[in-house]
Amino acid sequence: MPALRLGEVRVSTDGLTDRRTEGRELSVLDERLRGTKFVSYAARSVLNSPEQTGMGFWSLNPYVGCEFGCSYCYARYAHRYVVERAHDAGKLSDAEFRDFRGPHGWEAFERRIFVKQNVLAALDQDLRKFFRSAGPSARPPVPIALGTATDPYQPAERRFRLTRSILQRFERYEGLSIFIITKSPLVARDADVLERLSRRHTISVSVSLISVDEPLVRRLEVRSPTPHARLRGLTRLRQAGIRAGIMAAPVLPGITDDVSHLEALFQAAREAGAAFLHYAPLRLYGGIKDRFLPLIAEQFPSLLTRYRRAYQRRQDAPEAYRKALSLRIRKLREKYGIHSEDRSGSAEHQAGERMVQPELGL
Ligand code: SF4
Repeated sequence: MPALRLGEVRVSTDGLTDRRTEGRELSVLDERLRGTKFVSYAARSVLNSPEQTGMGFWSLNPYVGCEFGCSYCYARYAHRYVVERAHDAGKLSDAEFRDFRGPHGWEAFERRIFVKQNVLAALDQDLRKFFRSAGPSARPPVPIALGTATDPYQPAERRFRLTRSILQRFERYEGLSIFIITKSPLVARDADVLERLSRRHTISVSVSLISVDEPLVRRLEVRSPTPHARLRGLTRLRQAGIRAGIMAAPVLPGITDDVSHLEALFQAAREAGAAFLHYAPLRLYGGIKDRFLPLIAEQFPSLLTRYRRAYQRRQDAPEAYRKALSLRIRKLREKYGIHSEDRSGSAEHQAGERMVQPELGL
């Protein structure tokens, strides 16, 4: 595993602001030896409404960009959107714009992470709007999702603890439906807060895992935590009495969708005590094709023609494929006794499909 996530952090000597950028709106908060920079960004609003995103829930992402670097990640384009807006607003010089963008507009997603340091103040303001729009009759409330665009427990969270502070802020309220999606076992650090929240709200944590085959995962996700570490995090959450399970998304045709891969995933989910296993077949949005198909060509060349054909005119996997996969998953659910309920319309499931969500209010 690349040694980068936990150590190798160089904290700027003057606390949270780098002297080189002091006084500017995008100050460098921290920098890793491998070159990743964490940059402060003042968000006017952090809670995205269903109307803004087209999703059936509210969403909240404390970070823009993610060091985990999954090849299929759609959020790269949300990062590009934020960078372009910052440049248009005069917050990035032309040289910085090039640096924050990368040669194709998506590379810097893993190396230039925006940190919404003022997240709590913006959240307080947004929650007032949320409660106004939800109204007293809205029970159960429209869910709030953490981690639909970027991972809320990515390495930056160890340093900045924004996700934990958001969860602690939710302790002031009750009756909400909150769900979290993450690839990181760091979520188990917050088992104490999640356990308290579970008494006041409906809480659900989806640990995102496409396969338990570690070498395979590493070919697709450059720096994500190992499957074993994620499953350990899931076990800890379950032991703390928190509703948590697996989000197997995206299922990659010809790569992670065979019975043996899926069976190993179900087996591991059961051993970890997963309360559910959701899944979603790969969707390939226009932009992500440029990033993902070259990786298929390099890593899985025999599949390239099949991918090109399947996703040529559409972003969803072909209907016949989706039906066959659904049948396969249903059989495994029955065999392993994990969540036979069809949740394809649920908010968690939608979030698993990782729609591109423009980061609003920045
Ligand atoms: S963990 Fe999630 S947000 Fe981060 S790179 Fe992977 S898919 Fe994208």
